[in-house]
Amino acid sequence: MQFHVQTMLGISALVGVMLASMQLLAAVRLRASPLAFWGLSNLALSGGCLAIAARPSIGLPVSALAGNGLVFLGMGLLFSGIRTFDDRPAHVTWVLASAVAGALALGVSLAFGDNAPDRVSIASLIVAAWAGLSAVALLESSGSGPVMSRLPAGLLMAGIASIFLLRGIAAQFGYGGALHPLDTPAEHGTLVVSLGLAVAWSFGSLFMVLERLASVDDLTGLLNRRATLQRAVHFLGVAKARRIPLSVLLADLDHFKSVNDRFGHETGDAVLRHFALLMPGAVRPSDIVGRYGGEEFCIVLPGADEKGAHLTAERLRALAEECLVRVEGRDTRVTLSVGAATFLPSGPDLADVSELINTADGALYAAKASGRNCVVSARQNALRVTGARPGPRIAAGPAA
Ligand code: GH3
Ligand code: MG
Ligand code: MG
Repeated sequence: MQFHVQTMLGISALVGVMLASMQLLAAVRLRASPLAFWGLSNLALSGGCLAIAARPSIGLPVSALAGNGLVFLGMGLLFSGIRTFDDRPAHVTWVLASAVAGALALGVSLAFGDNAPDRVSIASLIVAAWAGLSAVALLESSGSGPVMSRLPAGLLMAGIASIFLLRGIAAQFGYGGALHPLDTPAEHGTLVVSLGLAVAWSFGSLFMVLERLASVDDLTGLLNRRATLQRAVHFLGVAKARRIPLSVLLADLDHFKSVNDRFGHETGDAVLRHFALLMPGAVRPSDIVGRYGGEEFCIVLPGADEKGAHLTAERLRALAEECLVRVEGRDTRVTLSVGAATFLPSGPDLADVSELINTADGALYAAKASGRNCVVSARQNALRVTGARPGPRIAAGPAA
């Protein structure tokens, strides 16, 4: 098969610009700054491909320094986008500094003779480093977080890092072409695979943003009802297959309407946001905390038996009692009622998540009937009730 490197680089640049346009348009329409970083990253990578392709007309030094500098910038911006996606500092200064330092290293290599293997190694290792950092950032909080697609995206990025790490090492052992470092069968393969991975990443990154928008509750930042149920179904399947327990808690803030009535909706929203921020700290990282609706939360506890679920529910109840006494300087005094239901592999098989949630809902109803500010666990034929003494009923009054 005939392979023309310049044509392939030109096609890569064209595809890159089209992907960048899609990402930048989506960034504006969805108001998602990570997509802006990823769009700029694709533009820089495309510019890098063009500059490398233009080597016969612009000469080796300009092509190598500008082309690779843009590639380093593109890979760094990709990392910055992931950081922004996680609400962490983008480190753009580091990205720019690394692009300049990488280009300077190539310049030094060129100044001491045209050593193609060294240039291929330097460029590959910088690309591998950014891809590796990006993979780590993506995989760090993959698990059961709001965006499940970051796991495949992270593995994809780890694949890119591995390919370029191998390329960087292999270049020192005669992998590059003697005349043109890009004109060998191995390099042709690397180019084609890199283009494929870049396309996969671009769609993956868009999917990550869309998945988050579709899974996260706007007000609280917790998983929304749909995403919570989706994960509950998944983890119940895992629990059945592994024959381990799984519990579901339904937690409802008590007399919440009176908070709105007394202080207005904004204070009500602030209470919801405040509690949503605290809740994940009171459960294990592998547990799922979602906003089930209004002032009601659904917490899925994979591996938790009745006792574990009850303890967690008590922790959440105590958290509300302690932390929702005053919110934004208002005397809110909000408490929490919790209903718990458990799937036990040894017990009667609760067929599906909706049955488990119905059972937890029944226990929550019993908690409300018992005076609120308490936890009720649905046991096989009885209810176990614990909690503080029911708080005083707060009368509704005019908004403050
Ligand atoms: P109970 O103890 O029986 O649960 O009483 P409650 O007042 O909490 O329950 P009810 O179902 O009567 O009222 C729920 C209230 O929650 C009414 C609604 O305005 C408020 N609410 C639901 N979602 C939001 C929200 O997003 N923001 C604010 N501020 N209030 C909300
Ligand atoms: Mg309520
Ligand atoms: Mg309610």
